[in-house]
Amino acid sequence: MPVTAAFKLDQRCREPHRKARYHSTVKKRLASLLLCVLVLPRAFADGLPDLGDVGSADLSPQAERRIGEQAMREIRWREAAYLDDVEVEGYLNRLGQRLVAATAPSGVDFSFFAVSDPTLNAFALPGGFIGVHTGLVLAAGTESELASVLGHEIAHVTQRHIARMVGNQGRSGMVMLASMIVAILAASSNPQAAEAAIATGQATALQSQLAYTRDFEREADRNGLMTLQAAGFDVRGMPAFFERLQRNSRLYENNAPAYLRTHPLTSDRITDMENRVQGLGYRQVPDSLEFRLVQAKLLALQGSAAQAARDLETRLKGKPDDVSLRYGLTRALLRSGQLTEARASMAVLKRNPPASPMVDALDAELLAASGDHAAAAARYREGLKRHPLSRSLAYGMADELIAAGQAAAASDLLRKDIVSAPDDYRLWSLLGKAELARGSRAGRHRAQAEVYRLQGSLPAAVEQLELAQRAGDADFYTLSAVDARLRELRMRLKQEREAR
Ligand SMILES: [Zn+2]
Repeated sequence: MPVTAAFKLDQRCREPHRKARYHSTVKKRLASLLLCVLVLPRAFADGLPDLGDVGSADLSPQAERRIGEQAMREIRWREAAYLDDVEVEGYLNRLGQRLVAATAPSGVDFSFFAVSDPTLNAFALPGGFIGVHTGLVLAAGTESELASVLGHEIAHVTQRHIARMVGNQGRSGMVMLASMIVAILAASSNPQAAEAAIATGQATALQSQLAYTRDFEREADRNGLMTLQAAGFDVRGMPAFFERLQRNSRLYENNAPAYLRTHPLTSDRITDMENRVQGLGYRQVPDSLEFRLVQAKLLALQGSAAQAARDLETRLKGKPDDVSLRYGLTRALLRSGQLTEARASMAVLKRNPPASPMVDALDAELLAASGDHAAAAARYREGLKRHPLSRSLAYGMADELIAAGQAAAASDLLRKDIVSAPDDYRLWSLLGKAELARGSRAGRHRAQAEVYRLQGSLPAAVEQLELAQRAGDADFYTLSAVDARLRELRMRLKQEREAR
């Protein structure tokens, strides 16, 4: 059982006399240190309130969710590999939620996020958090292929495979499993090459310990396929993705895609899916514009900016009328600072502009890069008229209003948005920026408190509210709001400490 093995490693790290043996060579010492880091990542050493309760086998969906939330905070706030991109994350969530809506109600609150990593992988954390590598999004030949992988991961969650995997090790096993997933991510984005080489080896070993059983895989495939069909995708996407994985693993003989290490692909699995798809009948489903634009954006973001621009230019030569590639090239040119070329490329895109908030945002970003922040804010406003629900346009507009010296207007807008999305850390973070720009100390600390709360750090949130109280520049209304929030968070902090 993988988790037991992890506990043994953990013990070794804690015992100094045994640890000494690992200090024989530099290489071994590095490996050992990394092992400790890998097995017991930072957040899990001091984070979870119920960590002391290691004997408990209680694995209620609520407990699982709390563990997933903790791991997610660790990833979102500390891992370089987390792709903090509103458009990509928004797309993955819309695609994921469309699939979730086609499954039987499970009570799980699913959330999808992108991991900046060229390898083919996707994984489910406890509690419904699903990570998708950018390499997988790029490798998908069709949107249905990408949807088939998400459908498979969703099935692992709804069938409670993770809970069943840790079995009677309960909560402690689940915490360890989540730690390992975070550790693998940390290892993959380790900037120090020598350590990374070792870490990658360890990560590979850990990854195969996290593998689902054949029974779980079969169940996830079958459930995933039904979801794919019910959500209106092309069911052939699933066997097509399997074939792609197989081709990929033949290409890198000793380095199979990470996905295959956790989701072992057997010939039984492939045959099973091929047979089932034949029985289902299929239909052609065109890819959404957003899927193609997200792929193009990821191409524009990968590697060096100049290389990305050259790559997209080459691709565009083969398909000169492809609007997504044109969008990608424009973005890559903007990224590499070639503003004149980027503007020229944008002009071509605008001749027949696809109706997407991503195109509006890129146009506005170009104006901002030229230093015209008022025009950029106006461009975002125009885009919001067409796409009133777009989060990225709303963030962009607030940011550009601040840059254009209209912080008060930005603050008003953000406050309105926060009423309907009080847990959106990006809104709070922008509000803090706006309040700072307009010179409101109390307002800035008040907003920063919410950012800390959403990062899971209640003591820091309480401290910020105390600073807001003492700032001396708050009006009566703001001060009462700060007082009320402070009482609430102090109470929550007390309850959290008592629960430990
Ligand atoms: Zn699987």
